Amino acid sequence: MLRSVEITAELTNPPRDEGSHNLHWQKKLELSLDCFICGRTGRTTAFEYGQEHALCSADDEHPPHPAAARIAAFDVTGERHRTALRAVVDYWWAPFHDVKRDRASTALTRAPWVRLFLGYYCPQAGESGGFSMQTNMVRPVRDSCGHCAHPLATSEQAPGIRLLT
Ligand SMILES: [Zn+2]
Ligand SMILES: [Zn+2]
Repeated sequence: MLRSVEITAELTNPPRDEGSHNLHWQKKLELSLDCFICGRTGRTTAFEYGQEHALCSADDEHPPHPAAARIAAFDVTGERHRTALRAVVDYWWAPFHDVKRDRASTALTRAPWVRLFLGYYCPQAGESGGFSMQTNMVRPVRDSCGHCAHPLATSEQAPGIRLLT
């Protein structure tokens, strides 16, 4: 069955930082999915926007493999001190039983997890940098420039993950 999941996230930017570090969402993400190919639940799956498949991560028993999943939409909106992201991921899901964990797969994995990536350019150092934000963090999380320590963004809420169809 074709399934769609919506991922939403929002960051607060310090007012004095507006534009100066060119903070932006990178068009890729990692999302945990129940993978019928591995027969395992909660597999970290890596996505890049524009690619027609994703990549299911490896473990001791399974090498990484292409997954029937892709980023269908990646929309960034921003106002004065906020930058928001809404992404939609499409993937093929089929029911199976995870023998190792003894649990049935679900269309949206039991405890969904997402990691999102951001990039920036430091005008002081003349170099780019990046960081990621994910579901399991103690919030608020404050990220600053790795070159000049200038504050870049605050994450107050974990990203939203919602099954659409
Ligand atoms: Zn897999
Ligand atoms: Zn900087």
